[in-house]
Order: sequence, then structure tokens, then C-alpha cells
Amino acid sequence: MLDVIVVGARCAGAATALLLARQGHRVLVIDQDRFPSDMRLSTHLIWHAGVDLLQKWNVLDAVRASLCPPLTAFSLDLGPVVLKGRPAQANVGAAFAPKRVVLDQILLEAAVAAGAELREGLLFDGVLWDGPRVVGVRVKNPDGSVSEETARWVVGADGRHSAVASAVGSQPYHAFPKEQGSLNTFAYFSGMSLKGAEFVSRPRRLGYAWQTNDDQVLVGMVMPGREARMPRAEVEARFFEELELTSPLLAARVRAGRREGDWISTSINTFCREPSGAGWSLVGDAGLTMDPITMAGITNALRDAESLANALHQGLSGGQELDEAMLGFKDQRDHVSVPFHLFSQEVAALLPVTDNVQRLCRDVAGSQQEIDRYFGMWAQTVPLASFLQA
Ligand SMILES: Cc1cc2nc3c(=O)[nH]c(=O)nc-3n(C[C@H](O)[C@H](O)[C@H](O)COP(=O)(O)OP(=O)(O)OC[C@H]3O[C@@H](n4cnc5c(N)ncnc54)[C@H](O)[C@@H]3O)c2cc1C
Repeated sequence: MLDVIVVGARCAGAATALLLARQGHRVLVIDQDRFPSDMRLSTHLIWHAGVDLLQKWNVLDAVRASLCPPLTAFSLDLGPVVLKGRPAQANVGAAFAPKRVVLDQILLEAAVAAGAELREGLLFDGVLWDGPRVVGVRVKNPDGSVSEETARWVVGADGRHSAVASAVGSQPYHAFPKEQGSLNTFAYFSGMSLKGAEFVSRPRRLGYAWQTNDDQVLVGMVMPGREARMPRAEVEARFFEELELTSPLLAARVRAGRREGDWISTSINTFCREPSGAGWSLVGDAGLTMDPITMAGITNALRDAESLANALHQGLSGGQELDEAMLGFKDQRDHVSVPFHLFSQEVAALLPVTDNVQRLCRDVAGSQQEIDRYFGMWAQTVPLASFLQA
């Protein structure tokens, strides 16, 4: 019998499968997509805490080999001050922004190399129950037939519209509609001079740009989700209007480049879901979808995948009862990921900065060590609570 079935084979699912397979467990990963497969709704930034995990799992060299540049220079233009620095307490000391067709494939190939079985083009169609306990999945195969697979544990890593979450009846909490979040508009540009990652913060606007694969730069503008969307035909003109107002210098550099591909503009609902029950768990966006303004979804998915794999390993290898082992996973989510979701939601409102924040910026700007700790909070190498309470 299989130990674990993972539904969803991108960053959360592939990472979970990789870690479990390396610990000797029998893992099946299924996905409705076929890989390599891209993902449009992502700006790809993996913060330092996530990069440190990729390094620990020996997959970071493959990211580097994809010619994805390390992002070591960070600047945040707050208007009165521009903070420049490097997140504190990071091992590798860089962020990366690999396109998802690159990142997800690297994790998936590593999972398969470690012994996980991958079945593509399979649609998850429901869970199998034994009384109150989930004991497997029902899937629709590419030829239209339906089949069943049983396992000791089922992991839903199937993204924010998780069908696994619906099937097990996982309840959402800390949920926010898209109007309370951010509206993110972005595109890829080539021929643009930019090294590292740059952020420009103004009232109700956050402009950003960073390097990704193919010698391209991702350039975007975040606005409050409560504002009207840009009409599709006017996105380019409106984007540049906004960027000129936010940062004329960045706008000039973007204009000197060439847009590659379409504009993407989106806002999403965010939430936590109950992460675990009898025979099942949720990881990545399936269990916790946060506002993209903090670019933390992938880092969160990788961290939670490790914590889930560790808990499952404890339970599957007999070190602990499986259900009891899951308490460790829930605990780390409650103490790290859930607070970051709530923090992201506050940031996403893009409210005018308060006196307190202005004071914080002035205090931080006086010390390079504090600037690096501030960047470390975003990079999740410095605990959120320790920074905000300091
Ligand atoms: C606009 C935008 C920008 C973002 N930018 C960033 C960023 O810069 N940095 C960052 O860290 N995060 C970012 N995020 C968040 C990030 O994209 C997500 O957190 C991340 O994709 C979550 O990964 P996942 O593996 O949990 O789910 P997903 O990437 O959504 O993968 C889910 C997988 O499950 C499969 N699946 C779904 N349903 C089924 C089914 N029924 N049967 C079989 N398979 C199924 C899908 O095919 C898919 O392959 C952004 C999000 C948005 C919306």
C-alpha cells in the first residue's frame, strides 16, 4: 500500500513528495497538468528563507543552472528614505525568482529521482472514506476511466481552489475577499537595466521589479483591490501613468526595455483552511492562500511542505501516532504561516502609512543592521514577531 498520495505537483506538492520519498516512503503524486508546465499567475520571487530550504534540499544548484540570477541587492524607496541592504540571518544570502516552469519542474524531477511516482493528466475526483477517516482518492484518468488509489495519508497540494479541501470539508477561517486585498498588474521586460530587486512604496501604490530567467525583468504595480480595475485595452497606458507617478526613474528604465508577453492583472480572495484531519492534510495554497503583496506564497509552501513531511515521517515510521504527529505541523503553521498571512493582509490594504510606521522607517534607516533585519522580516529569515515587537 502507498504511504502518501499527494494531489498537486507544483511547489507545495512536489516539495512534500520529494522530502517524503527521500525518507523512504512510498509516494504517489498526481496532477491534472502535464509537466513541464508554466503558471501565469505568479511573480516568482522566492525569499531567502525559501531559498535556504532549496539549498538544504540540494536543488538550488539546478535553479542557478537555469540561468536564474541570484537577487542580492534590495532597495525599498519609501519616499523620504531609500533603504538598501541584505536580509539578515540568511544562509545563502540571495533571493531567486525562477519562472514556475523552471522551479516546479526542478522540484518534481528531484521528487521522482528520490522514488516518488508521478502520474500526470489525472484529475482528482474525490476522497475514499473508511468511516470518518480518509483512506485514498478517486481519480479521472486521461482516457476518461475512473480509478481508486488507497494510502495511509492524502495530501491536498492542489492550490487555492483545492478540490481536496472541499472533499474533506476543511473549513476556511481568517478569510478576506479580494476587495480587501491587493490588485497586482505585471509583465516581463527584456533589455532593461536592473540588478536585484527594487520596491517603491507610495500611498496606495507599490511598484516593484526583479530579475527572472531568460534575461528578463518582472515589473509590476500593486494597487488596492478596492479600486476599479484597469480596462484591459488601457492596461499598458494606465500602468505607465501609475509608474511615472510612483517612480519616474523606474518608469524610464522600463520604457527603455521591451515587453515580452501579455500584461497580467489579478486580485484574489485569501484565507486559511483547517490544515489537517483524520487521514488528510492540506499544504501550500490549498491550506493557506495569502495576498501576493508580500510575495510569500512559495516560501510558505516550501516551509509548510517541510514541516508536513517531518510530521508525516514521524507518524509513518512509528515514532508517533500519525494524528498526534500532525500537531507539530499545525503548530508551526499557527505560529509562523498564519501570522504572516494576517500581516500580508494588512500590507495589502495599502493604507497611507501611519505615524508609527514613519517613525519605524526613520529609526530603521539610521542603522544598516536594522535595515537588514527589516529586509529579513520580509525574507522571513527574521521572525515577524521579533521585528514588530522590537
Ligand atoms: C498574481 C500572483 C503573484 C504571485 N507572486 C508570488 C511571488 O512572487 N512569490 C511567491 O512566493 N508567491 C507568489 N504568489 C503565490 C504563489 O503563486 C502560490 O503561493 C503558489 O503557487 C502555491 O503553490 P501550490 O503548489 O500550493 O499550488 P499551485 O501552484 O496552485 O499548484 C496546484 C497544482 O494542483 C493541481 N490541481 C489542482 N486541482 C487539481 C485536481 N482536481 N486534480 C489534479 N490536480 C489538481 C494544479 O494543476 C496545479 O499544478 C503569487 C500569486 C499570485 C496570484
